[in-house]
Amino acid sequence: MPVPYTPVADIPRLVADARAAYDAGFTKPLAWRRQQLRAIHDFLVKEEKAINEALFKDLHRPEAETMIYDIGMARNAAVHTLEYLDDWVAPERVSGESVAYAMDRLEVRRFPLGVVLIIGTWNYPINLTLIPLITAVAAGNAAVLKLSEVSVNTAELLVRLLPKYVDNSAIKVVYGAVPESTALLEQRFNLIFYTGNAVVARVIMKAAVKHLTPVVLELGGKSPVIVDKDANIPNAVKRIMWAKSMNSGQTCVAPDYVYVHKSVAAQFYAEIPKVAKILYGNDPAKSELYTRIVSDRHFNRLVSTLDAELKVPGVEVVYGGNRDAKERLIEPTVLRGVTQDAKKHPVMKEELFGPIMPVIEYDDVDEVIAAIRAKGEPSLALYPFSSNLKFIEKVVNGVDAGNVIANDLIMSLAVENLPFGGVGESGMGSYHGKHGFDTFSHKRSVMVRPAGLEILNDARYPANGYNRRGFWYKVVEILLFRPMPTDTSIAFSTFWRRNISPLFSPAPILIGLALGFYASIRARAAGLISH
Ligand code: NAD
Repeated sequence: MPVPYTPVADIPRLVADARAAYDAGFTKPLAWRRQQLRAIHDFLVKEEKAINEALFKDLHRPEAETMIYDIGMARNAAVHTLEYLDDWVAPERVSGESVAYAMDRLEVRRFPLGVVLIIGTWNYPINLTLIPLITAVAAGNAAVLKLSEVSVNTAELLVRLLPKYVDNSAIKVVYGAVPESTALLEQRFNLIFYTGNAVVARVIMKAAVKHLTPVVLELGGKSPVIVDKDANIPNAVKRIMWAKSMNSGQTCVAPDYVYVHKSVAAQFYAEIPKVAKILYGNDPAKSELYTRIVSDRHFNRLVSTLDAELKVPGVEVVYGGNRDAKERLIEPTVLRGVTQDAKKHPVMKEELFGPIMPVIEYDDVDEVIAAIRAKGEPSLALYPFSSNLKFIEKVVNGVDAGNVIANDLIMSLAVENLPFGGVGESGMGSYHGKHGFDTFSHKRSVMVRPAGLEILNDARYPANGYNRRGFWYKVVEILLFRPMPTDTSIAFSTFWRRNISPLFSPAPILIGLALGFYASIRARAAGLISH
């Protein structure tokens, strides 16, 4: 029995309930957060078989891939978060770097944002919905999770089973398509975390304007690979083909197209059939280990782009090209004779998001960098391959992109300490590990000053301190505002920070003693103390 979409009419009440739970303070205690993280982890352990089956139905995805890229990564995120949560919520003490703040407590504290909306996508539907959810609840938020309708079986499983594990008063799961998303976007949230394409991202941003809601956009784009003449070609081909055919190319950080230096192009092409055989045996179409395209719409989009490209003079298939509409299968397909010119080459227009890999041969890496920059659309990933560090640095510094991996692909996503996110057309904001915790938190500055010791403030009150000719004002002015030429001011500031500021750590005690001493002299002078 198919699971029905969440009724649109129920959506305002559902969001209001999540807000009521947040306002009642259910989500803020660390105990609640830990409980939810454990519950999500529990779901991922106990429902492993069901998740694997659902993803097999949706994408014909082999178990090992689902285990690593969906279930495993989400489990690791839960465990990592549970391990570090105490550190992340602890107030972060900072230095005021000035005598003016020597008596103060200065802290950055992370507070929850409120009720967050997480809109997930279909290609890794567990990873891309549950890791944001893990991060949201770790930061103490209530959350509404909107599942993608495209990976039907996984969405149905999540909507049926996840509520059995998590606290339903503060974590709501919504299943549906555009009308349900639209109804959600009319509600007030404190953050919208969207994963998907750049067209819908614009719809999300427009909707967010109404309530001045911040957005995190995790998008994609045409992520390039640039293979240098000094690259280890057999290893490069193996890694690139692995990343391109994983999930049948339906990965946001998949290599979209590959620049190969002319001098090594022949070797690059020669390696491709060998690698395809290593990955999927003699016939990927018959391999149980090869994922299918998610829907007929995406299958037809990919096939028509490929067929249009094959009509361009000079374009040839190096490997693959076969497809099976009934199975929604497209072989890993490598094309040569392609150029960067998107007007001539249909494969260079949009993000491919499928197992088609155009190869562009090049002479001069400066021209490659200029051509990618000229598009003005930074991709989510950038992959230089070379044994020469200077080449890698040149590409890293020359091309904008969300994330870079040199001599490999995809792998940085699993490193919890690296932020994952795009820039420009590939998105805004980032997450994973502590970076995600900060994204789902409000960083509040908290300054606690002594209630007494008014003498320290005297200089700021107009009648006392605003006499700029006074000696003490001059001292304060030099210490705080440094009315000197810029370089002298920087040198003074550096000297102060390195040599004088560290002396302030015992300042509260010293100043306390000095003020006590001063007060006793004043009291003695006023005759309040006689001995
Ligand atoms: P999709 O069609 O599933 O859309 C994502 C979500 O947006 C779904 O929940 C859907 O219901 C909702 N949606 C669709 N149209 C909408 C509308 N008009 N108004 C409101 N909501 C709407 O996903 P997709 O866009 O096909 O996903 C593929 C794209 O996502 C690719 O560009 C890929 O690179 C990108 N992606 C990015 C990441 C990342 O982490 N940066 C991960 C995976 C995919």
